[in-house]
Amino acid sequence: MKALVVIDYTNDFVADEGKLTCGKPGQAIEERIATIADDFIKNNDYVVFAVDIHEENDPYHPESKLFPPHNIKNTEGRELYGKLKDVYIENMARSQENILWLDKTRYSAFAGTELEVKLRERNIREIHLTGVCTDICVLHTAVDAYNKGFSIVIHEDAVQSFSQPGHEWALSHFKHTLGAEVVSK
Ligand code: ZN
Repeated sequence: MKALVVIDYTNDFVADEGKLTCGKPGQAIEERIATIADDFIKNNDYVVFAVDIHEENDPYHPESKLFPPHNIKNTEGRELYGKLKDVYIENMARSQENILWLDKTRYSAFAGTELEVKLRERNIREIHLTGVCTDICVLHTAVDAYNKGFSIVIHEDAVQSFSQPGHEWALSHFKHTLGAEVVSK
């Protein structure tokens, strides 16, 4: 069994009116990201929807100084964007043990979450990453996966960022520094 981690593909990070949006480049991967998630679910692999969560005006959170408020608890901004939302809703009802909604409060999907124990109990060694932003949450998740000894696969046509130089740099870093396989359709 392998795992797919879909990172932060929410309205706030992708939609035109999103609070911290990647805009058009983020929207351009909608179809691909939904297809990959659907393929993993059909293949009975483990699919994790890792989604940033924040409290409004949290004075203790380091991101409060860095970014405008985004992915606030119980807002539409925190819902999955576009077709990925349909994939999640359609499959969640049928296969709860192989689909995980994972609230995360830091860039990495491993930071302060149950992700690692969920992967270890399934003997998963290989994790595939999709979502946004390539050079922030995808990057930090990949670095933690590397340090924990997982094999990493990055889907180049299913990650994006609001910074194209950052996106390009991160793709190179995945390949040359984290030893990840960078694939596309
Ligand atoms: Zn955040």
